[in-house]
Amino acid sequence: MLSNVLIVGGGLAAQRAAETLRARDHRGPIRIVCAEPCAPYDRPPLSKELTATGFRPPSWYAENEVELLLGRRAAGLDLAGRRVITDDGSLSYDSLIVATGAHPRRLPGLAGRPNVFELRSVADAVALRSVLVPGARLAIVGAGFVGQEVAATARGLGVDVTLIEAADVPLAHVLGPRLGGWFAELHRAEGVRVELGAGVETALPAVAGAPVRSLVLADGRSLEVDAVLVAIGVVPETRWLAGTPLAGGVVVDAGARTVVPHVLAGGDVVRGCEHWEPAARLGAAAARSILGLPVAPAPPESFWSDQYGLRIHLVGSAVGADAIEFDGAGRSFAAALHRRGALVGALLVDRPRELPVWRRRLADALSQPERNAA
Ligand code: FAD
Repeated sequence: MLSNVLIVGGGLAAQRAAETLRARDHRGPIRIVCAEPCAPYDRPPLSKELTATGFRPPSWYAENEVELLLGRRAAGLDLAGRRVITDDGSLSYDSLIVATGAHPRRLPGLAGRPNVFELRSVADAVALRSVLVPGARLAIVGAGFVGQEVAATARGLGVDVTLIEAADVPLAHVLGPRLGGWFAELHRAEGVRVELGAGVETALPAVAGAPVRSLVLADGRSLEVDAVLVAIGVVPETRWLAGTPLAGGVVVDAGARTVVPHVLAGGDVVRGCEHWEPAARLGAAAARSILGLPVAPAPPESFWSDQYGLRIHLVGSAVGADAIEFDGAGRSFAAALHRRGALVGALLVDRPRELPVWRRRLADALSQPERNAA
C-alpha cells in the first residue's frame, strides 16, 4: 500500500517536505491542510517588501499531485486512530508532518484594537501596508529582527517610526550588547526614534474596538501614534496538539522525528527553531525520514536580515561570545565571534560574498573545538 502523508500547516517546512517527497519518488498521496486560504508562500518578504511570494505556481501542486486543503484548520490529533481532527471533519494519515509554524506573541492591552497590527501572514502585511503612508506615526513594539525590518521598510515609505524595546540593547540576547548597539545606531542614523529600556504600559483601558491614540512608556512618557505594530516574538503553534505528548513543545531529532511514532515535525513549531534555514532543512528531513533515507547532520545555524539596503547574516551563534574581531567598520564589516579562543559565529554586514567562507570556517571550528580552543 502507498503510504499516505498528511502535512498540517502550509508554510516553508510543509512545502519543502512535499517537494522532497515527490523529488524522491514518493508515490502515495500527499495532502497539505492549511488554515490560510492561499498556497504556501515565503514569509521573509512580508517585513521587507510588505508582500509575499508563492513558492510555486498553482499548477505545480496539480502536476505533482500535492492536494492543498486550504482554509481548513487542524483542531486536534487522535494518535490512536491516526487522524487529524479539523474544523470540518477529520483526515487520516500513515505519516503526519506537523508544520504549523508559530503565532505572534500579543500584548493583552493592545490586542484587538483596529490600528494595532502583527506581522505573520500576507493578510497581516496587506493590513499594515495600508496605514504606512508618508507622515503616519508608527510605533513598533519590539526591536527584534522583524520589528527592525519593518522600521527600515516604513522609513523608506516616509513613515515617522518609533522603535520601542524593553531591553537596554536591541537583540542583546542574540548578538550581545556591542553588536546589538550597532543596530540601535543604524536605525537612529536613518531617522528612527529608538526607545530602549522602555516597555509599553499594557494595562490600557479596554475600550472595545477603539483605536490606540497614545502609548504610555514604562517611564511614564506618552507617545502619540497613528498605528502600532507589536513584534515581540512568536510562540510555536501547538494549540491543536493539546492532550498529546507534543502539547508542551515539539522536540525533534536530526531526522525531524518526534517522540510519537509516525509523527514528524519541522519549522517554527519545533522548539528553538525560528528561522528560514532550519525550517527548510527540517521539512526536507521529515520527508527523507518517512522514505527511510539518510539525513545529513545540521550545518551551523544561519539567519539573514535586510535593512536599509544592507544584507546582514548571522552564522553560528553569538551567545556567550567573549571576544569580537572586526574586519571593516561602519556599514560593511565581518565580526568574528569567539568564545574561549574558538570561533563560534560571525555577523556579516554587507558582506554577502563572504558567507560561504565563514560557513566553512565555522564548520571547521565546530568540528575541531579542542584545536581551536588551544
Ligand atoms: P509558517 O511559514 O509560519 O507556516 C505555518 C502555516 O501553518 C501557516 O500558513 C499557518 O496559517 C498554518 N497553520 C497554523 N496553525 C494551523 C492549524 N491548526 N491548522 C492548519 N494550518 C495551520 N527567517 C530568516 O531566516 N530570515 C528572515 O529574514 C526572515 N524574515 C521573516 C519575516 C517575517 C515577517 C516573518 C513572519 C518570518 C521571517 N523569518 C525569517 C522566519 C521564517 O519565515 C520562518 O522561520 C518560516 O516561515 C517558518 O516556516 P514554517 O513552515 O515553520 O511556518
